[in-house]
Amino acid sequence: MLKDKVALVTGAQRGIGKEIALMLGRAGATVIGTGISEKDVEVIDQMLQAEKIQGRGKLVDVTNKPMRESAFEEIRTEFGAPHILINNAGITRDNLMLRMKDEEWDAVINTNLNAVFHMTQLCLRDMLKAHFGRIVNMASVVGITGNAGQVNYSAAKAGVIALTKSLAKEVAARNVTVNAIAPGFIDTDMTRHLSEEHRAAYLKTIPMNRAGQAADIAKAVLFFVSDAADYITGQTLHVNGGMYMA
Ligand code: NAP
Repeated sequence: MLKDKVALVTGAQRGIGKEIALMLGRAGATVIGTGISEKDVEVIDQMLQAEKIQGRGKLVDVTNKPMRESAFEEIRTEFGAPHILINNAGITRDNLMLRMKDEEWDAVINTNLNAVFHMTQLCLRDMLKAHFGRIVNMASVVGITGNAGQVNYSAAKAGVIALTKSLAKEVAARNVTVNAIAPGFIDTDMTRHLSEEHRAAYLKTIPMNRAGQAADIAKAVLFFVSDAADYITGQTLHVNGGMYMA
């Protein structure tokens, strides 16, 4: 299905990004998965090789401009310009507003919002020239609903949703689609560090009675980059077991 497509997935070493990288690879894409340490890159390489997926891990801290730019040029030379960009990398630095440090605000805005802008800008020119591109941005349900203790994270994710819509309007005529996925409560390291009490409270809000799995999100990504979604752009798809209904 994705034969001849090059997909760039940020934060592919674990969690949702790992599942996305594998699912796109199994669908035939050449996958470049980014990690922020040499060890991450090795893990990504091994994970792709184990499934005989073309592509490799690449060292990219999405908040680091020189690293982003040189990695992008290397990818372009080695594999060709990406047709698919999945802006997945993300972090949390939760705190109540009055206690939140500047660094916690800045780190989350830089990683979860600014990097989406920068990575997309790098990939967009080639997509526009090729008259083909599929960009999927990882948002969050809290980008719509808000969440106490997450002013930084929810603001970044709301920004991602708005960026998605605005860019979708800019580039639709060139057959570049830009969509977002808003996961609810997904069982990854990001949510595993929450207390049992917090996890139980979240689970109570999910009509399907279970946390989502990374694969639930990866399947939605696969849909957006497949032919089935050719006429869909600027949308935010909520994948949350009914936790929030738009
Ligand atoms: P995760 O398990 O914590 O994984 C995050 C990934 O992002 C890791 O691979 C991490 O690399 C990478 N990353 C972090 N900072 C980076 C940077 N500066 N440059 C490059 N990569 C970086 O999180 P997840 O649950 O899979 O989340 C994936 C995306 O879904 C995020 O955007 C998150 O906000 C969003 N999301 C998750 C949930 C959820 O319930 N889990 C809900 C809504 C939205 P390392 O492994 O090296 O740290």
